[in-house]
Amino acid sequence: MLEALSRLLPLTRYPYVGERINCPVCDHALTTDVANLDRRFKRLPTKCCDACGLLFTNPMPTEDELGAYYTKYYRLDYQMATTSPKQKHIVKRNREAAIRVAHVMDLLPSNARTLDFGCGSGEFVCQMLEKGFDAHGFELGEAYGRYAQSKLGERIQIEKWQDLSFDRPFDMVTCFHVVEHLRDPISAMSKMVEWLAPEGLVYIGVPDMGQRHPSRGFGGLHFAHVLGFNHHNLLLAARKVGLRPTRTIAPTDIIFERGVAGEADQIAVSGHRLSQEIYGNGNAYRSYLRYQVGKLVKR
Ligand SMILES: [Zn+2]
Repeated sequence: MLEALSRLLPLTRYPYVGERINCPVCDHALTTDVANLDRRFKRLPTKCCDACGLLFTNPMPTEDELGAYYTKYYRLDYQMATTSPKQKHIVKRNREAAIRVAHVMDLLPSNARTLDFGCGSGEFVCQMLEKGFDAHGFELGEAYGRYAQSKLGERIQIEKWQDLSFDRPFDMVTCFHVVEHLRDPISAMSKMVEWLAPEGLVYIGVPDMGQRHPSRGFGGLHFAHVLGFNHHNLLLAARKVGLRPTRTIAPTDIIFERGVAGEADQIAVSGHRLSQEIYGNGNAYRSYLRYQVGKLVKR
């Protein structure tokens, strides 16, 4: 009970110890402080990588600490759901899935085999099946994974990505709003490539922390998102695992194919420049205030 409370009370620390790490994308050791608060005014140390501009929590929660959080608190924290997804959540996810399906339809052969990495309650897998694709997915969270399984059976596995292997490759691996939750994005993305057929595609979507307007500053930060990407450092992460963009739907909503594009150093410099503009020199706090005051004025 006390632990549950300390996750919610403002200005207190989250109950984790964590460990100091280098940038999880480019391995650079130096960072600049971005904010020590998150959107709930809880204390959360967010740093910006001095090389590529990735935002990340440092000290970073350990794998066990993240695991405990997801098992016990995540859905309660974000959707106030404990046993199964709420109707409102499913309607929203279905709407998002329809848009994503439309983005991939023309890129895939008609019988394509697809895998949704962190499929949640399974709406994307379900809609891909309806279009005739051989769609599969996996989810770590029990409540949502069980719900997806109840609709889609063996096509859904409840597993950690580290524990999964497949006997046949996929024509496309999709991963929507999952990578920002992972402490080791490069290993996870390497797995996606490993599971891919030679001409296969990887479609990754993450929240865009490079958005200037509306600039929410530290209001975009919270415990579950241990990483904050912008367009450039997402490209850099993809480049590290041998992927280059083939269709850019939005700055951090990108379909990749195998290959290498751009100079790593230049991509990193662009990522850092953008993060500094938005979050550097106390801008994380100023832009939060501007955003909140703006909302009040508009009322
Ligand atoms: Zn970096």
